[in-house]
Amino acid sequence: MVLVAKCSKCGKRLNGIPKKSIVELSKMSKSMKNVSRIFSGNLCHNCVAEIIKAGVRREAAV
Ligand SMILES: [Zn+2]
Repeated sequence: MVLVAKCSKCGKRLNGIPKKSIVELSKMSKSMKNVSRIFSGNLCHNCVAEIIKAGVRREAAV
């Protein structure tokens, strides 16, 4: 069974995360399965940028 990591918000395939079986992924180190960004392995770069921008705007409005 091959896993494809997808963004939990928009559903796009995540770049930088290998498309391999669970057995192969378990043999790889964690740094090879992630990108160095907040919410890596969960959200794509566009969705993370949107969340950060929304947070900054909320802070600025208060
Ligand atoms: Zn996304």
